[in-house]
This record gives sequence, C-alpha cells and structure tokens, in this order.
Amino acid sequence: MTKKQIEWPVALFLTLNPLITLILMPIYFYTHGFEWGIALFALIFAAATNLSITAGYHRLFSHKSYDAHPIAKALFLLVGASAFQGSCLKWSSDHRRHHTHIDGEKDPYNINEGFWYAHMGWMFFKESVDQKIHAPDLEKDWMVKFQDKYYAPIAILTGFGIPTLIGWMMGSALGGLVIGGGLRIFLTQQSTFFVNSLCHTLGKQTYSKEISARDSWFVAVLTHGEGYHNFHHKFQIDYRNGIKWYHWDPTKWVIKTLNMMGLATKLRQISNVEILKARLQAESAELKKVGFAEEHLHAMKEKIIEAQSKIKKLRDDYEQFKLDAVKKREELKEAYDHKLVQLKHDMEVAHLEFQVGMKLWKMHLRSI
Ligand SMILES: [Zn+2]
Ligand SMILES: [Zn+2]
Repeated sequence: MTKKQIEWPVALFLTLNPLITLILMPIYFYTHGFEWGIALFALIFAAATNLSITAGYHRLFSHKSYDAHPIAKALFLLVGASAFQGSCLKWSSDHRRHHTHIDGEKDPYNINEGFWYAHMGWMFFKESVDQKIHAPDLEKDWMVKFQDKYYAPIAILTGFGIPTLIGWMMGSALGGLVIGGGLRIFLTQQSTFFVNSLCHTLGKQTYSKEISARDSWFVAVLTHGEGYHNFHHKFQIDYRNGIKWYHWDPTKWVIKTLNMMGLATKLRQISNVEILKARLQAESAELKKVGFAEEHLHAMKEKIIEAQSKIKKLRDDYEQFKLDAVKKREELKEAYDHKLVQLKHDMEVAHLEFQVGMKLWKMHLRSI
C-alpha cells in the first residue's frame, strides 16, 4: 500500500463540507439576512463541540486524566461525534499512537512530514488513516463501543440533523444547517487540526527540547487550551495543559467545573516540584551546550528544587496546622500565635531562597 491511495470518504467530506458551506452561506444570508439567534446558537454549539473533543475525546478518553460520570461521558460522545473527527475509539487510538511515536514514522500526524501533512494532509491517505485500532481499555467500554459502531448515523444526526431542527424551530432550517452544521464543523475541525500542526511548530519547548511539541498562549486561544502542548506531551496524565491559573485553558476550567458538579472525579495532576524539575532539566541541557559546568548547574538546580520542596512542605504543614487548630482549639490556643509566626517566617525564607535561585538561573539563561 502506498501513500498515493486516497481515503475517499474522509477526503470527500473534508473537501465538500467547506465547499458546500461556502456556496450555501451567501444564499442563506441573501434570503434571511444576519440572524442573531442562529449565530449565538452556532457559537455555543461550536464551543460545546470543541470542548467535547478536548475535555472528552482527548483528556478523558485518550489520556484518562480524570474519571467522568456516565452522563458527562455520554454528552462528550454525542456532541463529540458532531465534530466529524471520527469515532472516539479511532480518534483516541490514533492519538495514543501519536504520543508513543511522536515525530517518528509511526506517528500518524508526524510533523516532520510537513505542516500541511500534520494539519490535514494525513487524513487524505489510506495508509495514515487506516491504522489498526489499539485501545484495549476503551474497547471494553460499552459507551465508546456503541458510539464507534453507530458512529456515522450519530454524527449525521448530531452534526447536521439537530442543528437543522433547532434552526427550523428558530425560524430558519437553512441557517441551522449551514451555520450550526457546515460552518461549525469546519471551524471546530480546524481548531483541532491546529493541535497537530501549530502546536508542533509555534512556541517554546519548555519541558523537553527532544520533542517537537511547543507551548504557546496564542495557539492555546485557537485550540481551547491545547496550546501548552510541550507540557502536555511531557505530562500527558495531567488534566491541565496550562498549569498557571492565568494560562488560557478553558478545557481545564470545564473539567474543574464538572468536578464541582460531581460529574468528574480523580483529576490527575503532576506536582509542581516534578514540573519544575523537568523544566530545569531541559534548560540545563541548553546551558551545558554553551559551556556551563555540569556540577555548577547541578548544584544550582538542587538548591532551587530544595526551596520549592520546602515551600510545598510548609504549605502542607500550614493546612494541617489549620485543621488541628479547629479540632484542638483549647489546647493550641497559646501555641497558636507562636506557631503561625514561625510558619510565616519559614515560608518567607523558603520563598526568598527560591526566588534567588531562580533569578540566578535566569541570568544564566539570558547569557546564552
Ligand atoms: Zn494528547
Ligand atoms: Zn502532539
């Protein structure tokens, strides 16, 4: 089998959907004008579609970064199908292969084959699309199996049927079909495809320079948070991609919200110390290249990590102390103030040690 063999059903959909949408859009606007209701519905449906792929297909089913209630799973599978990106089983199997063989020949959307190939090109060929399914855990999940078995009717129903029906109820079946169906599918597909192309092209290799995946806030905006992709490839089990609170990662916020609603549990998270270690490791490899001595770098790294670990321990101590204070209020009364002052002081010192260590480290990095 050669790469020349075209995967016709996928290739036709990827070509015809935007083409037909492009033809029908002017007809719709000409006959109906701009309708706010339809536009708003399509926008909300687009966000739900994207999040079903990122929080559902990707972080839940492919990576098991948290556990979900059957209601959340069913919604992800139904709305996810409306994205026309294949069944969850196939998508996850391909994606796991991408993680295992990143940048290699067996990576289905290998960026070394070029930007366009990783973005969409790979889907036009039988060889890259027709990969054997390998996801034993998902093959045992009846919901995932059901969605895989009836994928085509579910996708057509949720992707085109329901938006057309909702459009009809809002007074414009054509608007529902074109804006809520074709256009929404085209845009959400592009958002996902950027994860395989732009996320491996644009941004910083913060945690590992050995892989093509990159971290970029700009790409995160385009992909509902998946733009912190170097972090994701390094720590795929973490339910977050953007680890700082201000990192644009709506997928992480949705999972957290589901958690508060009781629909998502066991959110998996890598410790700050482990994350810092990976970052310093990647940076020290760069510093070594420009001539800094290994022992010197090692000693600096140790100091920073020690300070970070100390901060974590003091935070845990403080939480425990607060719990104890509630439980043994009488007993702790006198010791309370003294202990609190001590803890605060230790915390300030640890923070200072950490900041000094990081400043020194960054000065080294700037000298490259
Ligand atoms: Zn992934
Ligand atoms: Zn990737």
